[in-house]
Amino acid sequence: MSEFDVIIVGGGHAGIEAALAAAKRGVRTVLITSNLDLMGQMSCNPAIGGIAKGNIVREVDALGGAMGFLADGAGIQFRMLNKSKGIAVWGNRAQADKKLYRSLCRMLLENTGNLSLYQGMVKSVTTGNGKVSGVCLESGETFKAGAIVLCMGTFLNGIGHIGSNSFPCGRSGEPPSLGLSESVQDLGIKAGRLKTGTPARIDGRTVDYSKMRAQEGDCEPFPFSYSTQHAPENKAVCWVMKTAGETHCIILDNLQKSALYGGKITGIGPRYCPSIEDKLVKFGERDGHTLFLEPEGLDTHEMYLNGFSTSLPFDIQVAMVKSLAGLEYATIIRPAYAIEYDYFLPTQLFATLESRIVPGLFMAGQINGTSGYEEAACQGLVAGLNAAEKTRGGEPLILGRDTSYTGVLIDDLITRGTEEPYRMFTSRAEYRLLLRQDNADERLMPIAARRGLIEQDLLESRKRVWEKKRKLREKLADSRIEPSHWNGGKTGIDLKRKTGALELLRRPQVHILDILSCAGIEEHEKEVLVGVEADVKYEGFVEKQKAEIGRMKRMEETRIPEKIDYNHVEGLLAESRAKLKQIRPVTLGQASRIAGVTPADISVLIVHLTRQHNASFHVKP
Ligand SMILES: Cc1cc2nc3c(=O)[nH]c(=O)nc-3n(C[C@H](O)[C@H](O)[C@H](O)COP(=O)(O)OP(=O)(O)OC[C@H]3O[C@@H](n4cnc5c(N)ncnc54)[C@H](O)[C@@H]3O)c2cc1C
Repeated sequence: MSEFDVIIVGGGHAGIEAALAAAKRGVRTVLITSNLDLMGQMSCNPAIGGIAKGNIVREVDALGGAMGFLADGAGIQFRMLNKSKGIAVWGNRAQADKKLYRSLCRMLLENTGNLSLYQGMVKSVTTGNGKVSGVCLESGETFKAGAIVLCMGTFLNGIGHIGSNSFPCGRSGEPPSLGLSESVQDLGIKAGRLKTGTPARIDGRTVDYSKMRAQEGDCEPFPFSYSTQHAPENKAVCWVMKTAGETHCIILDNLQKSALYGGKITGIGPRYCPSIEDKLVKFGERDGHTLFLEPEGLDTHEMYLNGFSTSLPFDIQVAMVKSLAGLEYATIIRPAYAIEYDYFLPTQLFATLESRIVPGLFMAGQINGTSGYEEAACQGLVAGLNAAEKTRGGEPLILGRDTSYTGVLIDDLITRGTEEPYRMFTSRAEYRLLLRQDNADERLMPIAARRGLIEQDLLESRKRVWEKKRKLREKLADSRIEPSHWNGGKTGIDLKRKTGALELLRRPQVHILDILSCAGIEEHEKEVLVGVEADVKYEGFVEKQKAEIGRMKRMEETRIPEKIDYNHVEGLLAESRAKLKQIRPVTLGQASRIAGVTPADISVLIVHLTRQHNASFHVKP
């Protein structure tokens, strides 16, 4: 038997961050995973980031996590998505070399103090004195710890589907995790079933790229990590194509052979990452769907056919692929498949990601009903850190919706739950103008530094950047632009009188570089320019959001007694009463976000709490 403070189960994107955060917090940590060579494996897309997801990567990085640094190191093409829109919704995305990502990940974990790695399949969670006590492996070994973080991804009772063929799998080529889901359910935790899918991989030597459009990386790529010292380099090209009539006919003619439409799959799939057959059925009116052919690495010809996920039989997959322009002679080297797996209903968790039912048991990643590497990583970091805090008697970290996308994601999961794989979007964050990828360091690094998750040197170097931003802003506030210097420029705006530089910068069509040359201000550091421009452009909206945050904060600070009996709260709607009983929100703020709980219910609740506790809650719902 081996003894640790914290056990992490699963070396995927959640488990990696959980292990690093716990170990950095100074507690003895072990990461147990079924295959040490596959830690950090990208089960699906060979890419990190994207719209909203890129912001999460920046947050993970600001909190001392690994994903941003690994993506910079293994990235082979970098693009800032949504660049034609406001900076608030830009999202960095890197195409990554999968193998290199895994090996960088392993190197990092092997060189982290307080962290041990162990290869094995965990079969059950053990408890004692009403809390977790350890885990047992299939091979018979046992491990003891005061806190456990479960991060098993799509492996729990995983079943793969290709047409009518079903086979046990955790993901392609790997066995499922059997027994562990039942062991957790035996502790009183409820589980559900979800599904996701992945497209075929193509041999790049059999592709006619002349029939596709090349998609290059950005000329000046942005790194994800605040620790990356040099600009990342683009080393690969992606390819864009569209489906057309012939492909659609093949799919629609064979729809009933798909595992999804033939009734083999019962789990609910990701609405926002649907299979190609799902896209045709749900968006049939479109004359074509865009697909991307993306390299899986620099030392392989394997290409990922993004947008073409399916659970149709293999012979149909071959016909579908060959019907695409440029893929007429293409060879599939890995088939597309769908996978069904168990997840645990996330409403059974606190915002620390600790189970409400079994003290000391934390959960993160796909097993909480999310989809995506980034969504898994940020949960892993929070769960790992809080598991460590639990064992050392420290203050838990709870991130609010106003501090981060990570806070939004966790609050959505624990308050609303999810019945389909949850993916992050900018639209899920009501304070998205504040939660930008350019200011993740200012939002989160002070928190990370206080808990020893980042080096003091890094914080100091960021403080120097924040100071540069402050000074540039000051200079802009003191500058007034002469019409004679400005008029006739590329913005098309003609000034009638001297105008303040800040006032001008607030206009959507004006960029900071347009102003600096006219105002005679020297500053070339890209992140300083982007940060100041974003701060100035969104200032007015952000002030309004801050007022709203202040109001919500009062609701968040109003705790609902753990033992409240909702049957005795008079005046609640029946539906709201049922939801409140099921979710048992910890604060009024959380109660107000439960779907179906109305502002009137919140007023009723405030009156009840005030009467019960003879106290004034000073909250205006
Ligand atoms: C077929 C497929 C399609 C997908 N499609 C998409 C998509 O389109 N978009 C998207 O964003 N995401 C997709 N994903 C999901 C993406 O892979 C996950 O969201 C992400 O990897 C989740 O991270 P995680 O850490 O929770 O789990 P994973 O990355 O899956 O890691 C789980 C880890 O746990 C280990 N493990 C499992 N059980 C045990 C056990 N009992 N004992 C010890 N170790 C164990 C595994 O070896 C693995 O290392 C897909 C995944 C699959 C498999």
